[in-house]
Amino acid sequence: MTTVDAGNVDHDEIRRFEALAARWWDTGGEMGALHVINPPRLRYIRQRTGGAAASIAGKRTLDVGCGGGILTEALAEAGADTLGIDLAAASIEVARQHADANGLKVAYRLIGAEALADEQPASFDLVCCLEMLEHVPDPAETVAAIAALVKPGGDVVFSTINRNPKSYALMIVGAEYVARIVPRGTHDYAKFIRPSELDRWCRAAGLVPQDVTGLRYNPLLKSASLNASDLDVNYLMHCRKPAED
Ligand code: SAH
Repeated sequence: MTTVDAGNVDHDEIRRFEALAARWWDTGGEMGALHVINPPRLRYIRQRTGGAAASIAGKRTLDVGCGGGILTEALAEAGADTLGIDLAAASIEVARQHADANGLKVAYRLIGAEALADEQPASFDLVCCLEMLEHVPDPAETVAAIAALVKPGGDVVFSTINRNPKSYALMIVGAEYVARIVPRGTHDYAKFIRPSELDRWCRAAGLVPQDVTGLRYNPLLKSASLNASDLDVNYLMHCRKPAED
């Protein structure tokens, strides 16, 4: 296993994802829930970045913590000029092979958000960072790196898991122990993030939150939908970096 050393990374987390790398595209496997929530996630990104079907076409887009490329490929299929980054080498390899096999033009790199921000500040029209902040030691630092990566006037979409008794019951007890949708230890309750915390980190980094919307996932029906008023468990946040005047 190879991992790139960067400060803001939990190597146990990276090891856990590397061990599952072969399963990224197995819709019936451990990553199955990500495949189910992907269409509503993409719909949200499109709605928030202009609405029209072509809204993300041609945009220089970055997917931070891209894993095997579930969202990255969907962005590329929608016409975005897409780069996916992750610190799990095995996942980046799977993502590259899958995009090649699908004839999709997607760039992938084994690099952290902070290092890419040093290399290419203010370079992306759209930055997505989905289901990743709850796996890093210092999510506020990741948010700051993302704020540095997006161009003035550009968009950022985050998604993560809220922290409250209901999210504990559903995401830890339900998903890991009862229904066994994801392996035990996938999530650490203490790392879940309240919308108010993410809002604060975004503002501190110079991003302006525009909208927060819940994402409801039903493991029995294997269905998912956006719900503007239910932020209890999974939610998405759209921010904009103010344009320079
Ligand atoms: N964003 C993808 C994958 C989510 S799983 C999706 O939603 O479909 C979380 C991903 O974050 C894993 O691929 C893991 O390797 C990655 N990750 C965890 N810590 C990271 C870090 N510090 N830097 C970059 N990627 C990280």
